[in-house]
Amino acid sequence: MSNTIAPIKKKQSNGASAESKTTMKGLVYNGPGKIEYKDVPKPIIKKPTDAIVKIVKTTICGTDLGILHGKTPSVKSGTTLGHEGIAVIEEVGTGVNNFKKGDRVIISCITACGTCEYCKKQMYGHCKDGGWILGNLINGTQAEYVRIPYADNSLYMAPKGMDDEALVMLSDILPTGHEMGVINGCVKPGDTIAIIGAGPIGMSTLLTAQFYSPAKIYMIDLDQNRLELAKKWGATDIINSGTNDAIKKIMSETGDGVDVAIEAVGAPATFNICQQIVRPGGHIANIGVHGKSVDLQIQDLWIRNITITMGLVNTNTTPMLLKTVESGKIQPEKLITHHFKLNDIIKAYEVFGNAAKEKAMKVILTNQ
Ligand SMILES: [Zn+2]
Ligand SMILES: [Zn+2]
Repeated sequence: MSNTIAPIKKKQSNGASAESKTTMKGLVYNGPGKIEYKDVPKPIIKKPTDAIVKIVKTTICGTDLGILHGKTPSVKSGTTLGHEGIAVIEEVGTGVNNFKKGDRVIISCITACGTCEYCKKQMYGHCKDGGWILGNLINGTQAEYVRIPYADNSLYMAPKGMDDEALVMLSDILPTGHEMGVINGCVKPGDTIAIIGAGPIGMSTLLTAQFYSPAKIYMIDLDQNRLELAKKWGATDIINSGTNDAIKKIMSETGDGVDVAIEAVGAPATFNICQQIVRPGGHIANIGVHGKSVDLQIQDLWIRNITITMGLVNTNTTPMLLKTVESGKIQPEKLITHHFKLNDIIKAYEVFGNAAKEKAMKVILTNQ
């Protein structure tokens, strides 16, 4: 579709029946536990603010595994999954001003209209016509092409000469760890903090927490391999909660607990560790996606002046994080452990789904 489209045709293209006649490959969710890499319609521009991008590299998120485990009922059968990646602009609608065909872009996991009440508060995750929709309410990035609504506000130009794979980490995990863990937790110089969960989100939290110079960073996980990596990447103390009582150890070493306890798993047991180790006046910053309720120990917490935060990433710090990656202050590419071609994505899901056995952290899929 060209930029000189006649109004009458534009109307037709907004219709739900408008579909491309050509096909591409995409990773389609077919209900809990079921995915298939198959031919799907190639996306087309539906609104003037859309862009169609060709995926260069994408990845699989813990959230995608959560969808497969039935944690996210908003995802309907037939949806192409994925909300991270870098891409090249294939085509833009007439209302897109910041990008043109051939531009290399970072796709944000959050779509932002830029004009609604929430966007004006930089709470893009709650955009009234966007938020987390890619690979959730609309087709996502684990495909050869994707339609990006509100392209001007939902894409970032990839700086020239930068490592593509490092940039993929800016789509979701770096802003999520930074905003929902470090910023919500109010990490300050000299703090003692604990990150529960050494997966990609926990590791992103570990990398970005160091901007604020905490004195002590505990990393807690069941996977010794991940803990050893955390130690290399800045954790001062690691605790394997499978072989150690993490709560007892932290309380005996700190006296009255940590300033900030960051939950990066999304399970009742890990949330409970946070409640037990946070000191008076401290923060519990929940990042994990919980598929069920947790037991909130409000009868103990209330008198200790604890702040509990949770939420969906805003992505308002993405431009700042991009600068820190560009300058080499952080090197998120070290989180990447496995590479696959996009058409081997089923195999990639198997590896990522068995992360402990496969020693997998972040997998990269290249569209060739
Ligand atoms: Zn994600
Ligand atoms: Zn909005």
